[in-house]
Amino acid sequence: MAIERIVDTSGHAEDDDERLIEVTLRPGSFSEYVGQERLKKNLQLAIAAAKKRGEPLDHILLYGPPGLGKTTMAAVIANEMGANIRITAGPAIERAGDLASILTNLQDGDILFIDEIHRLSRTVEEVLYAAMEDYKLDIMIGKGPAARSVRLDLPKFTVIGATTRTGALAAPLRDRFGHLYRLEFYTPDEIGRIIARASKILNTPIDEKAAALLSTRARLTPRVANRLLKRVRDYADVNGDGIIDAPTATKALALLEIDELGLDSGDRNLLANMIENYGANPVGLTTIAALTGDEASTIEDFYEPYLLQIGFIERTPRGRRVTHKAYKHMGKTPPSDTAEK
Ligand code: ADP
Repeated sequence: MAIERIVDTSGHAEDDDERLIEVTLRPGSFSEYVGQERLKKNLQLAIAAAKKRGEPLDHILLYGPPGLGKTTMAAVIANEMGANIRITAGPAIERAGDLASILTNLQDGDILFIDEIHRLSRTVEEVLYAAMEDYKLDIMIGKGPAARSVRLDLPKFTVIGATTRTGALAAPLRDRFGHLYRLEFYTPDEIGRIIARASKILNTPIDEKAAALLSTRARLTPRVANRLLKRVRDYADVNGDGIIDAPTATKALALLEIDELGLDSGDRNLLANMIENYGANPVGLTTIAALTGDEASTIEDFYEPYLLQIGFIERTPRGRRVTHKAYKHMGKTPPSDTAEK
């Protein structure tokens, strides 16, 4: 049986149980939302101003690696605004007509959350940015010579877009967002607080040492932290008395093949492949994808951000290269002819 990856590359909860836990653990207010202090401050100000003026919020684009809390933040914003939130995703809106029906069903002040907004088709993107600009929707009625364009008024809604890549968004769409915020990786301390909160909600006792251990292995990412906690809880329930202490956590993490930096077999396979075939020389993303058998987008969204964050790979104009730090972590001697990183 293949070992389930802790870094789930679908970017979503994998089953109903997981989804239920995600929803249960999702913070509902700014005070429950751990970390991202700069983002929270800016948003609190924007929300207070919009409320004072009695206007909807300006459109907001949240970007950053999966699992850092973009969807959660959209729900917090809706709660704080006292607004309804309608959740959809780029790939789900296939045609302009799909978007038209979503938009015409909104009400004044509603929030439309579009996950993976970079995956909208160009035609849908065009309809969307026109609607965001002046709350109008142009639709074609009829076919052939009798076809005519009709302009509909839309309610004053707010789009919150989430993306792992702002670069993939057409400039006109990106320009329609009044707020663009990057979500940062969390500190181990913040991850520790997220684990403590989750263990309370899930009614799973975890001692301080075990919590500290998990927080250094969660790839600085809340979704991974919650998922690790859940897996370790399963292990403690089956092999112990349900209490998570350091020895239990260590054994469970070893079973999951997660090392002391939170890297799993997928990450190590990627680094090993790069080292074996290219040493410390730059290599293109598509070549890396061919070496590991992953999609290039999977590497870009799921593996690379954390490896860049901890300084294991770096981006150069000629591709990605493995650093000496990664060599050492992999138990290999770095080549002497490349500069120390
Ligand atoms: P994204 O949309 O960026 O992929 P999500 O918002 O779905 O990430 O977050 C994944 C999970 O991580 C959520 O279900 C939530 O439980 C948890 N989470 C995310 N951000 C935070 C946070 N700041 N504080 C506490 N838990 C968080």
